[in-house]
Amino acid sequence: MTQKTILVTGISGFIAKHCAVDLLRQGYRVRGTVRSLQKAEEVKVTLAKHCDISPLEFVQADLLSDAGWDAAMQGVHGVLHLASPFILNEPKDPNELIRPAVEGTLRVLQAAVAAKVQRFVQTSSMAAIAYGHPKTRTNPFTEDDWTIQDGPGVTSYTRSKTLSERAARDFMAQHRPDMHYASINPGLVLGPLLDRDMGGSAEVIQMFLRGKYPGCPKLSFGVVDVRDVAVMHRLALETSEPSGGRYMGVSESAWFMDMMRPIKAQLGAQAKKVPSFELPNFMIRLVALFDPAARGIVPDLGLELRIDNSRTRKALGMEFIGVEESAPAMAKSLVDLDLV
Ligand code: NDP
Repeated sequence: MTQKTILVTGISGFIAKHCAVDLLRQGYRVRGTVRSLQKAEEVKVTLAKHCDISPLEFVQADLLSDAGWDAAMQGVHGVLHLASPFILNEPKDPNELIRPAVEGTLRVLQAAVAAKVQRFVQTSSMAAIAYGHPKTRTNPFTEDDWTIQDGPGVTSYTRSKTLSERAARDFMAQHRPDMHYASINPGLVLGPLLDRDMGGSAEVIQMFLRGKYPGCPKLSFGVVDVRDVAVMHRLALETSEPSGGRYMGVSESAWFMDMMRPIKAQLGAQAKKVPSFELPNFMIRLVALFDPAARGIVPDLGLELRIDNSRTRKALGMEFIGVEESAPAMAKSLVDLDLV
């Protein structure tokens, strides 16, 4: 069994906890960064339900400060850099998202290079690939595409993910460190929550379970199960593919209704408030006149996000869990954790 140490930044996050469980089950030692040591206790309790946590330790570090990062990297073989603010609402100041994402990524990269870490995996996003493009585009998005920063519907979050992945790739090209780099670019991450600290993507499903909207906007996403995203991170750490890989974590593109249908079918009465029809686009446009949140989605209404990640599937040997399983799994965990 391997005893390499992997640093997982932002280990308190929804995806990062799944990554930590997967790594610990595969025999890695895991060191997680947290912003507060109280979070470390919560993470310990959660992970202990799923794996042996004796090879798990914590360090305190914030993306906006140098403190703690050099110590965090000591003796580390690889880094999974997941920490980044993920909020759905548009902040007043875009730098609330962009600064920690970009500055933080460069800070973590520099500390990793200084400590001679061998492998670095950055959690980027489909947000860095598929947004701001002309509506007339018909080609599916692939690993070669980049979000157009000043295009329609590009939010501060989308910008933060695009700029932070760009910054990392530019850093690697400029400094050419002897460290293997890859990015994982997941779509909307579904699948089970491990605890009540739920992260941004579960809030979307939670809103529908709570009956916040009578119908679904006609919006399409690349979707993926969190358990697959965790496996992808580990495979990217271990791959013999060349440095620089960009791996799209997407099982399929799905409209909101494609997520709601299996949730309703599998959760029955627990999903009674989940919408069973799509809202017409004109209605959302009307609401958008008064509601800034609705305004943000108008440019993408009715546009199918077509994706071809066959290169990723082949390179990492991934077979993805489909939305029929990942959407109800997330909904069920929200119900079980009393979050509805
Ligand atoms: P979470 O919100 O659950 O996790 C975010 C993590 O980042 C938390 O651990 C949080 O710590 C940490 N963090 C935020 N700001 C800072 C900071 N200034 N310093 C240190 N740590 C910080 O989100 P997810 O698990 O969903 O997301 C993890 C990663 O995956 C992010 O990079 C996100 O952009 C990316 N991603 C997520 C997708 C999704 O659908 N969920 C899709 C595509 C990409 P704390 O607990 O202290 O707040």
